[in-house]
Amino acid sequence: MSSIPDFCGAIGNTPLIRLNRLSELTGCEILGKAEFLNPGGSVKDRAALGIVENAERKGLLNPGGAIVEGTAGNTGIGLALVGNAKGYRSIIIIPDSQAPEKMELLRNMGAEVRPVPPAPYSEPGNYNHIAKQVAEETENAFWANQFDNTANADFHFNTTGPEIWDQTDGGVSAFVTAVGTGGTLAGVSRYLKSRKSGIKTVCVDPFGASMWSWFKHGHLDFDDGDSIAEGIGQGRVTDNVAKAEIDDAFRVHDRHMMFILKHLTEREGLFLGPSSGINVGGAVKVALDGGPGQVIVTILCDTAQKYMSRLFDPEWLAENELPPENLPVESMIEEMKSDL
Ligand code: PMP
Repeated sequence: MSSIPDFCGAIGNTPLIRLNRLSELTGCEILGKAEFLNPGGSVKDRAALGIVENAERKGLLNPGGAIVEGTAGNTGIGLALVGNAKGYRSIIIIPDSQAPEKMELLRNMGAEVRPVPPAPYSEPGNYNHIAKQVAEETENAFWANQFDNTANADFHFNTTGPEIWDQTDGGVSAFVTAVGTGGTLAGVSRYLKSRKSGIKTVCVDPFGASMWSWFKHGHLDFDDGDSIAEGIGQGRVTDNVAKAEIDDAFRVHDRHMMFILKHLTEREGLFLGPSSGINVGGAVKVALDGGPGQVIVTILCDTAQKYMSRLFDPEWLAENELPPENLPVESMIEEMKSDL
């Protein structure tokens, strides 16, 4: 008999998928780590499991207890499901600007969902601060604190990083991903650097975030523009971001992200969400910048399913100034070359 003990055992060990057309066009191997195949449907299952197991080891989470978290969605899904499998309830504080599908999903999974109006991190009404407060006021509750709890990055150091190293037989030459909490970027970059310091580690940002500014210029001042990508787009140096070892950074326009998502669906059979489009855009930029022959790994974070009411609504797209036209990736690559 071959089985795994429970839901948690199915997290990780995701395949690495070659993005064929983009690889051919750039002369690099562009490989996507299929994190959307995790049992909760996203890369955040890893952070959820890492944080919960760490809290259990430290005695911070007790039987029948509650996991409280401020989350844009995917971490909440991971925490709710890991919690269900381990016997904890979950209370999720979510900005009400997030896609409605995510809130419905969380409720149907048994989480208690508390939507709050979006507020900047500097204000007490920010969902992250509210989560901390709710945990303090709730009996037998633990605040997951995904942004500054480095059990998040540690789990990627111990799992995602080694998997990428093994799956490429140590041949990976560059790794690129965007930042939400920074757990993925920090854990994987540190692990790969520990194996071979010459591996190029790269942050890719949507416009409106300031991680590009941080890694490229050492300050957070460039946060111009805007992006529809949910789950990424960080404006401060979280404790997880602080653990990253990064060589370079790029920015990708939402317009290009949309062309990439369409291309990946139609040519590769990969139906992915916005952050995956930014990540693959980052991989293309790394390919164009460093030239042919590189083995570039990025993260395919989740599928488009949770964002369908937005990504496929012409009115919503028009409101967000996203073009209805399609640009073949060949032409998009030419455009990307000119804004390197
Ligand atoms: N993509 C999506 C869809 C996410 O939900 C997140 C996490 N918020 C990320 C990417 C970024 O991952 P990390 O938190 O490890 O930086």
